[in-house]
Amino acid sequence: MLAELKGLNEECGVFGIWGHPDAAKITYYGLHSLQHRGQEGAGIVVSNGGRLQVLKGEGLVTEVFNEGKIEKLHGKSAIGHVRYATAGGGGIENVQPFLFNSQNGSLALAHNGNIVNANALKHQLEAQGSIFQTSSDTEVLAHLIKRSGYLSLNDQLKNALTMLKGAYAFLLMTETEMMVALDPNGLRPLSIGQIGDAYCVASETCAFDIIGAEFVRDVMPGELIIIDDRGLHSEPFALSTSSAICTMEYVYFSRPDSNIHGINVHTARKSMGKQLAMEAQIDADVVTGVPDSSISAAIGYAESAGIPYELGLIKNRYVGRTFIQPSQSLREQGVKMKLAPVRGVVEGKRVIMVDDSIVRGTTSRRIVTMLREAGAKEVHVCISSPPMKNPCFYGIDTSTHEELIASKHSVEEIREMIGADSLTFLSVDGMLKAIGRPQDGNQCGQCLACFTGNYPTEIYPDTVLPHEKELVR
Ligand code: SF4
Repeated sequence: MLAELKGLNEECGVFGIWGHPDAAKITYYGLHSLQHRGQEGAGIVVSNGGRLQVLKGEGLVTEVFNEGKIEKLHGKSAIGHVRYATAGGGGIENVQPFLFNSQNGSLALAHNGNIVNANALKHQLEAQGSIFQTSSDTEVLAHLIKRSGYLSLNDQLKNALTMLKGAYAFLLMTETEMMVALDPNGLRPLSIGQIGDAYCVASETCAFDIIGAEFVRDVMPGELIIIDDRGLHSEPFALSTSSAICTMEYVYFSRPDSNIHGINVHTARKSMGKQLAMEAQIDADVVTGVPDSSISAAIGYAESAGIPYELGLIKNRYVGRTFIQPSQSLREQGVKMKLAPVRGVVEGKRVIMVDDSIVRGTTSRRIVTMLREAGAKEVHVCISSPPMKNPCFYGIDTSTHEELIASKHSVEEIREMIGADSLTFLSVDGMLKAIGRPQDGNQCGQCLACFTGNYPTEIYPDTVLPHEKELVR
C-alpha cells in the first residue's frame, strides 16, 4: 500500500560510511535506496578528518542534493538521514543529521526510532540549563552526552544510552570515528556492510546492494559499534537485552529486496500471503494486490489458493509527491489520483483483494468501491497481518487509538464499513509462522505491540506519538 494513503508512516532511514574517498556520493546513493522510509527531508554530514560539513534540506534526496552540491562535500566518511513527513510539518531545523560544534570538537547525529522517555528527559535537562534547538527527541542524546561527567566520548555515549528508553538506531560521527548504537530490544533494523576496506551502516540491506557493498552482519540489540581507521570494534552497552524487531518492517515498511535478520522481506510477505490463503479459504476468480507493498503477499496468496494472480489495481507512478493530507476528504482524493482499477481484469469477477494492513479503513473503503465501480461481482478483502489495534510508540506513525479502526470495531463491523463481501485478517500465530524467525524459548524475538498491546518497553504517561512530536516544545 502507498504509505501516504494509508496513514502508516515510517519515521526515517539512516546510512553511514567510514573510510571511502567517495563517502558523500555513496551516502547519497544509500539514502536514495532508503527514500521509502522518509520523504520530508534528507541530510548528509561528511568528515575529512578535521572538520565536519553538513548539507541538508526539505524534500526528496534528489531534490536536496545534486551533482554540484555532492562534489563540494569533501571527506572520506559520512552519515546521512532521510526523514518522514510529520503532520506538523517539522521544518528544516528537524531535518537530520544534527551537527553540534563545541570546543572539544564536533558531533553529528542521525536517528531512526522514537525515544519514549524523551519528554521526561527533556524536562530534566531543561531544568539543568540545556537549551534545545529542535523539537526532535534525537537532540536529547546530544545533551545527555554533553552533561555526562565521563571523560571519553565512548563512556559518555554509553552512559547516555542507558538513560534512553524506546527505539533507537543511532549513527554518530566525530572527526575521528563513527559510532553505531541499537536499543536493547533492537526495534529498528540496522545492518553493517563492507565496500573494499570501508565499513558502511544502513537501516536496510537494500542500500548495500545499490552501492555494491557486501553484507557483513546485523547490529545486535544493545550493541555499540565503533568504526575508525583501525577498523570495527564492538561492545555491549545494555545490562540486559531482549530482541523485539518491529514486525511491521516485514509486513509493510522495508523494501522487498532487503533482508532483516537473514529473512528476505519479499519471501516473508509471500509466505504471509500463503498462510492467509490457508486461513481465509475463499472461493474466487482472481487475486489482486494493492501496489506496491502488498504484491508479494498477493502472489503468495494466489499460489497457495490456486487462483490466478492478476494486476487488478494499477499505481500511477507519475503523480507528484504529496504530503500527508490533513483531512479525510483530501485523503480520499489522493487515493483516486494514485490508484486505478483494471476493468478488464475485475469486471464480472469475484475478486480477492490482498492488502498488508488496515489503519483507518478509509483507503480500503475507497479501493473496494473502486473495484465494484469497475464491475467486480464480489470483493473479498484479505489482510496479510492481524488487526492493528494499538498505536506504535517506536517511530512508526500508526495513528492514535481513536483513529485505528480495529481498536474500536470488530472484524464484521469493519467489513461492513469498508463495504467488502468478506474480510479476513491473518492470525498472529500465522504471521509469525510465515515470517519464520527462529523462536528463542517462548520469545518470538519480534515486537507485536500494535497487534497485541504488549509493548516491549515501558511506556511513559507523557510518551509522545511520532505525529505529536511537534507539540513537545
Ligand atoms: S508497535 Fe508495531 S509498528 Fe511499532 S515497532 Fe512494534 S510492531 Fe513495529
